[in-house]
Amino acid sequence: MSEQRSGKWIMHLDMDAFFASVEQRDHPEYRGRPVIVGALPGSRGVVATCSYEARQFGVRSAMPISEAHRRCPQAIYVRPGMGRYADVSKQVMTLLSDISPVVEPVSIDEAYIDITGLEKLFGTVEKIAAMTKQRIFEQTQLNCSIGVGPNRLIAKLASEFDKPNGLKIVSPEQVQAFLDPLPVADLRGVGRQTVKSINRLGIFTVHDLRRCSQELLQQQFGERGAQHLYNQARGIASDLVGQVSERKSISKEHTFGQDVSDQQLIRDWFRRLSSEVGRSTRKKELAGHVISIKVRFSNFETHTRQQRLRTPLDTDSTIFQHALALFEKSGFANRAVRLIGVGLSVWEAEEPLMGDLFESEVESQRDKKLYSALDEISDKFGDGTVTLGLPKR
Ligand SMILES: [Mg+2]
Repeated sequence: MSEQRSGKWIMHLDMDAFFASVEQRDHPEYRGRPVIVGALPGSRGVVATCSYEARQFGVRSAMPISEAHRRCPQAIYVRPGMGRYADVSKQVMTLLSDISPVVEPVSIDEAYIDITGLEKLFGTVEKIAAMTKQRIFEQTQLNCSIGVGPNRLIAKLASEFDKPNGLKIVSPEQVQAFLDPLPVADLRGVGRQTVKSINRLGIFTVHDLRRCSQELLQQQFGERGAQHLYNQARGIASDLVGQVSERKSISKEHTFGQDVSDQQLIRDWFRRLSSEVGRSTRKKELAGHVISIKVRFSNFETHTRQQRLRTPLDTDSTIFQHALALFEKSGFANRAVRLIGVGLSVWEAEEPLMGDLFESEVESQRDKKLYSALDEISDKFGDGTVTLGLPKR
């Protein structure tokens, strides 16, 4: 199995019940007991992560805390310790980059790792996956689940398949047999509403989906949606791993000869930069999910603002609209600017959408990990619940 013709081996790693497991590790008295990390009972927040003991009571991530409390009043309720989680995350990511140079963290407790060609160094892909799990456990005393497959989709589904403490390898020859029995809800981008409309067509498993005509899918989900389902049902997905934002982001900026406070002029430049970004985006046949703007004032104070969008953008006018809206929302609109920029980045389509994220450039270097944690948690908690003292507008 370790010999592949020309394909890749992609590994997906996901820490098990991450926040709750860290709490159980750090508080031995929590072990073996239901632990719910998130809001406290009596508040309006939700569950961020809960231990497997709590899951037995039907508690789930993103469940309102009142509901969790009704199901499991005896649980230990703790507020998230993001600093500690970020430290463990850093340990894990560092350890992964010792194994492969190509690591892409996708959230605080999840990463894709390209392990193609490492067999000569470490042995079969099974050995590499087992070694990774073992090293992580030795260093952090935490379990993770690992899936390996020829692309991101299969790797991700494989890591979910065998959770917790799982290890699942799906070779290219096994892809279809692995996918066919899975419920369509397991596929990327298939939320509750989509599942309902798919089920109404009599489609319940990936196998059913594969037998459904492309025409019918197009009628129901549009061309883009149908293509997405069609590809996933056949295990067709990206096998690229890397710094997504660097590899697939397009940005243009303009420095003014002097400070500019003329709003019409700034607007015109936003329009022009948006068109340039749009042109490059289409030329590369990309569409971006994250729009960002950059603003520099005369004292070199520089800020970026970004927003993740549900629908990818690739037309000049939509890029312009969103960029301008971000600028207006930023509160910078009445200050004289020296430089403005517009950027668009692509997120892999199979990744779940996360909430809006605003960040300042200065902090982004230092606190990237923390921000991804913040992003994840504000996604689970609802926007604005967790601020960690970081600026959030
Ligand atoms: Mg996890």
